[in-house]
Amino acid sequence: MGTMYDVIVLGARCGGSPAGMLLARKGYRVLVVDRATFPSDTISTHLIHPLGVAALQRWGLLERLVKTGCPPIHTYDFDFGPAVISGSPGTEESPVGYCARRTILDKLLVDAAADAGAEIREGFNVEEIVIENGRVTGIKGHSKHGSPVIEHANVVIGADGRYSMLAEAVNAERYSEKSRLMAPYYSYWSDLPMNGHFETYIRPNRGFAAVPTHDDLTLVIVGWPFAEFETIKTDIEGNYLKVLAMAPAFAERVNRAKRVAPFAGTPSPNFFRKPYGPGWALIGDAGYNKDPITAQGIMDAFHDADRCVNALDQVFGGARSFDDAMEEYRRVRDQQAMPMYEFTTQLATLGPPPKEMLQLIGAMRGNQRAMDGFVKMNAGTISPAEFFSPENVRTILAAAQMGMRQG
Ligand SMILES: Cc1cc2nc3c(=O)[nH]c(=O)nc-3n(C[C@H](O)[C@H](O)[C@H](O)COP(=O)(O)OP(=O)(O)OC[C@H]3O[C@@H](n4cnc5c(N)ncnc54)[C@H](O)[C@@H]3O)c2cc1C
Repeated sequence: MGTMYDVIVLGARCGGSPAGMLLARKGYRVLVVDRATFPSDTISTHLIHPLGVAALQRWGLLERLVKTGCPPIHTYDFDFGPAVISGSPGTEESPVGYCARRTILDKLLVDAAADAGAEIREGFNVEEIVIENGRVTGIKGHSKHGSPVIEHANVVIGADGRYSMLAEAVNAERYSEKSRLMAPYYSYWSDLPMNGHFETYIRPNRGFAAVPTHDDLTLVIVGWPFAEFETIKTDIEGNYLKVLAMAPAFAERVNRAKRVAPFAGTPSPNFFRKPYGPGWALIGDAGYNKDPITAQGIMDAFHDADRCVNALDQVFGGARSFDDAMEEYRRVRDQQAMPMYEFTTQLATLGPPPKEMLQLIGAMRGNQRAMDGFVKMNAGTISPAEFFSPENVRTILAAAQMGMRQG
C-alpha cells in the first residue's frame, strides 16, 4: 500500500502539470504520474494563444518560457485568397502568442509542478483505475522496471488526453459528439522567416498554417478533409506541397526553405465528456476534445486546470459539496467552450465559408477594428458568440457601406 494523497493527477502535460502545480501551491498532497519521461514530444502542433500565455504569466512561468528563445507572435493573418484579414490576437495585458515546442513547454510545466512540491513520477504507466463501491479511490501502475503499485487519493484527476483511461474506466458520459473532420500533417522548416506572424491560408477543401517556433524554425501544418485521409497518406510530401502551391507567394518562400523534420499528424475526434463523478475529475482533452484547426487545446487545458483546482479547493475546504462545485466547473467550461466548438467544427470541414461569412470578410477589408475582432475571435480572446452577434455584424456591414458611399 502507498501513501494517501489528496489528489493524484494522471497525465503530466498541459492539463496535468499545471493542475499538480496549482494544488501543491495551495498546500495539497499531490502525485502527478505520466508514462512519458520529459522532455518528451507528442503529436501536436503548439500555438498558444494570448489568453493561454496570460495563464503562464499568472502562474509566474512566462519569463521561463521567454528565456527559452521562443519568438513572440504579434500578428495573425488569415488569407482567404481574394482577401487577407490581419490583426492583433491578444489583449493589452497579454498581446502575443507563442508556439513553444512541446519538448520545451511540457518539461517547463512538469518542472514547475515539482518546484511547487508535487511528487512527480515519470515513466509510470497506469494500467488500472482503482474503483471501490462505485467510487474512484486510486490508480494501479508501475514504473519501467518496477512491480505494480497501488496509490490512493481522495480525488483522481484524469489529464490523460483524448483517449483517457480514467474516462473509459468510469464510463464518463459523452455529449455534443461529432465525427473526425480534418486530417492534418505538419513538419518544421528552416529559412522560412515569419517576422512575428502566424499565417493561415484558406483554400477550397484545403487549409494550411505557418507559425514560428524555437530554434528559428517554422512549423507548417496542412489540413485535408478527413474523407481524403487514406489517399493523402499514400504520398504525404507530394500532397502537402500541392496544397502549399495553392498560395504561390508562400510556396515560393518554401522553395527557398529546407524541411528539417519528418511529417507528423493525426485526426482528432470531437466531443465533450462529463468531467466529474465520485472520486474523479477530467481536465484538458480528456474532458473536451476538438479539432486542432483553431489551436485551442493547450489554452483550454490551462483554463481547466485553473477552474478544476479552484473547485476542488472549495470542496476540500468544506465551502461546497463536490457535486455542486464540480457541476459549476462543467457549466462554466461548456458555456465558454461551446460557441468556439461550433465554430471550430464548422471550420474543420474545410468546406466553403457560408455566404454571410464571405460577405463579412469582404466588409472587414480596411477596417482594422473589425479585423482585430475577427483575429481575436479565432484566437479565443473573444467568443464567436460575441463576434458573430447580430449587432457586431450590423456594425461591420454598415461601416463598409459607409466607406463605399464615401469612397
Ligand atoms: C495534430 C494536432 C495539432 C494540434 N495543435 C495544437 C495547437 O497548435 N495549439 C493547441 O493549443 N493545441 C493543439 N492541439 C491540441 C493539444 O495537443 C491538446 O489539446 C493538449 O495536448 C491537451 O493536453 P492534455 O494535458 O489534456 O493531454 P495530452 O497532451 O494528451 O497529455 C496526456 C498525457 O497523459 C499521459 N497518459 C495517458 N494515459 C496514461 C497512462 N495510462 N499512464 C500514464 N500516463 C498516461 C500521456 O503519456 C500524456 O503525456 C493539437 C492536437 C493535434 C492532434
